[in-house]
Amino acid sequence: MPKSLDVVVIGAGPGGYVAAIRCAQLGLNTACIDDWKGVQGKPSLGGTCLNVGCIPSKALLESSENFERVTHDFAAHGISADNASMDVLKMVKRKNKIVSDFTLGISQLFKKNKVGSLHGKAQLLGRDGDVWRVGIVDGEEVRAKNIIIATGSTSRILQQAPLDGVQVVDNVGALSFSETPKRLAIIGAGVIGLELGSVWRRLGAEVTILEASPVFLPAADEQVAKEALRAFTKQKLAIHLGAQVDSVTQSADAVKINWRDINGAALELVADKLIVAVGRVPNTQGLNAESVGLKLDAAGRIEVDEQCRTSLPHVYAVGDVVRGPMLAHKASEEGVMVAELIGGQMGHTDLNLVPNVMYTAPEIAWVGQTVQQLKAAGVDYKAGQFPFLANGRARALGDTAGFIKILADANTDRVLGVHIVGPMASELIQQAVLAMAFSASSEDLARTVHAHPSLTEVMHEAALAVDMRAIHI
Ligand code: FAD
Ligand code: NAD
Repeated sequence: MPKSLDVVVIGAGPGGYVAAIRCAQLGLNTACIDDWKGVQGKPSLGGTCLNVGCIPSKALLESSENFERVTHDFAAHGISADNASMDVLKMVKRKNKIVSDFTLGISQLFKKNKVGSLHGKAQLLGRDGDVWRVGIVDGEEVRAKNIIIATGSTSRILQQAPLDGVQVVDNVGALSFSETPKRLAIIGAGVIGLELGSVWRRLGAEVTILEASPVFLPAADEQVAKEALRAFTKQKLAIHLGAQVDSVTQSADAVKINWRDINGAALELVADKLIVAVGRVPNTQGLNAESVGLKLDAAGRIEVDEQCRTSLPHVYAVGDVVRGPMLAHKASEEGVMVAELIGGQMGHTDLNLVPNVMYTAPEIAWVGQTVQQLKAAGVDYKAGQFPFLANGRARALGDTAGFIKILADANTDRVLGVHIVGPMASELIQQAVLAMAFSASSEDLARTVHAHPSLTEVMHEAALAVDMRAIHI
């Protein structure tokens, strides 16, 4: 490795590894330092997303949904599969293999692109002239003109529910249970609570979720949240809103949660496992931020401008460690932007166009503004909505819950937000992101030919509905 590099990236999650590869593509001499330890303490690139986040959770969601289809849905197709069983250890092993293949894939991408890969905890030591010094704990010191901090986030800990990694776990433990818990309690009905709650509910757990907010999914469109809550309740996910957890006590074979419901009534919940999923906090510990004068905001995130520049010259920060949604694709997009800025190109990330997706059943996805946000901002809008129930492909799939709603500016017709609850929302939302990225109007979507029969026709009909001319309803 040369004495002074062009760029050192700290963190190899989707923000950091993507930034490092893009820097290398642009001819910048780049190294990436990451401290993640995977199986048997071995370095494992990919950060939260690959190791204990997006990819493993989606693997378990797919396996458990297949089990649910076999045990509940296939009969309607005339398929009988009596005595279907789930081998949880095999399911977890499959998930682990997907993770290890992908983390290995990043090492190979680093080699291919000539990104130096270093293992250990990195800290900023200071600047000599125009070169930053970065120390690796118990390791060497590296120097670079530019630093990209992509140190991600970790689970927020609830004081009254400390993790023991066995009975009381966060996402890490909840992705690797060796058997389906009979009674599963979850604190937090956010995206992790609902996705992982769905996994274990489908495999037979009685799932109870205690959510502090009196409103279900407050960031989602109100109608979407209402439809989703109805579907989850029907699936027997017991979701208690406005719940306050007072204490958690553990015995050899159970966890007892003392909590109060929305009316203040004291209640007790006994479970075999408890998942704590109450949000994530930015990872800035050990970076030596204070000593080098790196500014953090009130929430402990690294303060950045629109182009992810920090308070220090030639030091950038991207992903979960900065403001904005904690999503892998947002982290990667910022990583590319920063790499291109360092490489002398233009760079831009529009946080309004970052899609949000929840991989539950039904799936939930949205981009842009919600009705609540438009009303609060006093924007005059038109809405068009169409149900999956009236769509041939959804009927063939046997997956007809939900709808697509398009919000367009009442004066210009420009699409301002698209909200989906229903089958394949995760894939369908991309059409809306693309449309909005090109400033499309609902009329543009309405005049675009959509394949028949396909779920995309629901998007087409919702666009027609903005102008009250949907055909099939
Ligand atoms: P991270 O992925 O957290 O990576 C940061 C890396 O930096 C880690 O490897 C960390 O060990 C390392 N690091 C930290 N400090 C140092 C240091 N001082 N020195 C060296 N290395 C350091 N998002 C989605 O978009 N879609 C999903 O489906 C999705 N599912 C998720 C499911 C779960 C269960 C969880 C927990 C998260 C999920 N997310 C999902 C969120 C997503 O994982 C994060 O938004 C994303 O990983 C953030 O990327 P990042 O690069 O900023 O940080
Ligand atoms: P979240 O912010 O989605 O949900 C946390 C929930 O916990 C909130 O509803 C909050 O009101 C509740 N809560 C907070 N304190 C509580 C308390 N004391 N008692 C009861 N409830 C409490 O966070 P998460 O589910 O932990 O996920 C963390 C991040 O990971 C999210 O920001 C998300 O962006 C990302 N993630 C994304 C995906 C995806 O894109 N599909 C999947 C998983 C995680």
